[in-house]
Amino acid sequence: PEAITIQELANRMAERAVDVIKLLMKQGQMLKINDVIDADTAELIAEEMGHTVKRVSEADVEEGLFSIEDTTEHLKPRPPVVTIMGHVDHGKTSLLDAIRNSKVVTGEAGGITQHIGAYQIEQDGQKITFIDTPGHAAFSQMRARGAKSTDIVILVVAADDGVMPQTKEAIAHAKAADVPIIIAINKIDKEGSDPNRVRTELLSEELVTESMGGDVIDVEVSAKSGQNLDKLLEMIILQSEVLELQANPDRTAEGIVIEAQLDRGRGPVATVLVQKGTLKPGDILVAGAEWGRVRAMLDEDGKQVKEAPPSKPVEVLGFQGTPEAGDMVAVVENEARAREIVEYRQRQIREKASVVASGSRGSLEQMMN
Ligand code: GDP
Ligand code: MG
Repeated sequence: PEAITIQELANRMAERAVDVIKLLMKQGQMLKINDVIDADTAELIAEEMGHTVKRVSEADVEEGLFSIEDTTEHLKPRPPVVTIMGHVDHGKTSLLDAIRNSKVVTGEAGGITQHIGAYQIEQDGQKITFIDTPGHAAFSQMRARGAKSTDIVILVVAADDGVMPQTKEAIAHAKAADVPIIIAINKIDKEGSDPNRVRTELLSEELVTESMGGDVIDVEVSAKSGQNLDKLLEMIILQSEVLELQANPDRTAEGIVIEAQLDRGRGPVATVLVQKGTLKPGDILVAGAEWGRVRAMLDEDGKQVKEAPPSKPVEVLGFQGTPEAGDMVAVVENEARAREIVEYRQRQIREKASVVASGSRGSLEQMMN
């Protein structure tokens, strides 16, 4: 199937369209910048130009929407994306809010702000992006697609409660995604808190903290009093330096929807974490089965942002419909292209639904995708 224009392919690779045209010419194809080539040809061209092509899913390949890995010379350092996970009531939200509030200049924008699902802070000149635990469905969906939404997991364990079922689940998620874990032993201000019991219990989960002779970083904190939050941030920076995180900021953007809702006044609002490229107002993007033109981007303070580079989370206004948490986001070249992709995906969703509704078995693939 015809899938992608030469211009869009070039944009995705951060290459010049003329170079793509020249390469096609060598292969005996005389094409212009807005001509469409099929996915297989696009893949061959990308590989010949030194890019690694990752097939996200068969459906994406049919649309020519596969992800093209950037070559090393285009990569630049990017901030770490940190996800806070742990058992319910162990203090994930409190910790997230405490870190953010410790960075909000008093008196600015009313001081303490309401809770938000994703934000970026700066610590000693280093940016760190935090995201709240995505719902389990969203997390599994991301994993199933091979999408990595986080670089580091902060595992919050309440010192008065210890390792609980969702602590173990979070550990399993982090290990399956091959993401390093930093332990935040929380609520140390509380009477009866026992950090060492937490460390001992973690041994059964094969997490050996430094004080137990292992290499898993642990920090005792209190989201309530703010104790040791700076130390936690330092450890995050230390860990991220080891990871040498990089992305190409100079290409069309790709990312992931962290959360989305329909706002009465503003319409669909999606928090998008940019993972590659730079997102800008006016960009046309596709997220799952929805598309939109970026009308405005807002940061965690509600301020307008003109550019969102890799690892930056922004609230995006301008979607036609409300996408879902976990949806992959990609900027495409024009509205027609966006509509085409979205129609294709919505048709797939309808077909799947009708297979289920009619009670017919369908193929296993239809049921699973
Ligand atoms: P989540 O379910 O993991 O997001 O947990 P929350 O952040 O909602 O916290 C659950 C409860 O624990 C709330 O009542 C918090 O006020 C309380 N809490 C969170 N962190 C601390 C802490 O460091 N010390 C104390 N004493 N209470 C805390
Ligand atoms: Mg919470």
